[in-house]
Amino acid sequence: MTIAIIHHEDCVLHDAGEMHPEQPARVEVIQAALERYEFDAPAKFYPAPLATREQLISVHDETYVDWIFSVAPKHDCIAIDADTWMNPYSLKAALRAAGSVPFAVDLVVKGDAQVAFCNVRPPGHHAERDKAMGFCFFNNVAIGVRHAMLQHGFRRIAVIDFDVHHGNGTQNIFQNDTGVLYCSSFEHPFYPGYEPEMDNEHILSVPLEAGTKGELFRDKIQSVWFDRIAAFQPEFIFFSAGFDAHAEDPLADLGLTETDYVWLTTQIAKIAKVHCDGRMVSVLEGGYNLSVLAQCVPAHVNAMIVK
Ligand SMILES: [Zn+2]
Repeated sequence: MTIAIIHHEDCVLHDAGEMHPEQPARVEVIQAALERYEFDAPAKFYPAPLATREQLISVHDETYVDWIFSVAPKHDCIAIDADTWMNPYSLKAALRAAGSVPFAVDLVVKGDAQVAFCNVRPPGHHAERDKAMGFCFFNNVAIGVRHAMLQHGFRRIAVIDFDVHHGNGTQNIFQNDTGVLYCSSFEHPFYPGYEPEMDNEHILSVPLEAGTKGELFRDKIQSVWFDRIAAFQPEFIFFSAGFDAHAEDPLADLGLTETDYVWLTTQIAKIAKVHCDGRMVSVLEGGYNLSVLAQCVPAHVNAMIVK
């Protein structure tokens, strides 16, 4: 039983300036914390490969992928939207982030690891089929999900997205794909906006009012998700792991703590043990308090281990 941790130094070079909350230091702090953490199973560290064009266009429009490559700057920092910036290293970082997830899936399917965590940036869950937004260019988790389906033949995959922002990109990509059960909890009303009428039998949203703390979070998650996930009988489970619903995160107003992340991860790991031999891949999304990241990410990764 091994944990794979995937990262690449290129992910540190993507930098939208010191005022931007999605800082390079996020993954540096996380990597250092993961390297010194005493996990309940051996951890093995891998460099993230670049995503292939085939992987990118498995979830994004070809014209959109071509456009991102064409606008990627050689010298300056350019704005894709008000929040989403590219410097000369951003495209490569985005390709490492997108490439890390199919690589993690392969490690888990081959049995080289039981679970994997991708410590990568830029994040991905706001990236839609044909749109970069919210710090995201390519939808890293969606690319991994599609890879698990196309390359390994999995037909039922659950995505657990506990980032404080609604994963509009992931929902956009899998809106009509009944093979993906998309479970998302998020602050509402909040960026990027959430449309309840878009939910369906395989899109399970848990909108949470500002100020919601762990106890109510757990009640809602338990009542909306767990029976439905078990009934879906997932063959693989992904986490979109954002830590910005933490009480000490500067961008949002929920009140989660480390114990809530460990609780959720443990509950999902139990479902994974029953239905998919514990196969799970987790991918970093948001989370902007560095000490929270250093504390909560290793605890989340350790809780994925099915004991
Ligand atoms: Zn977020």
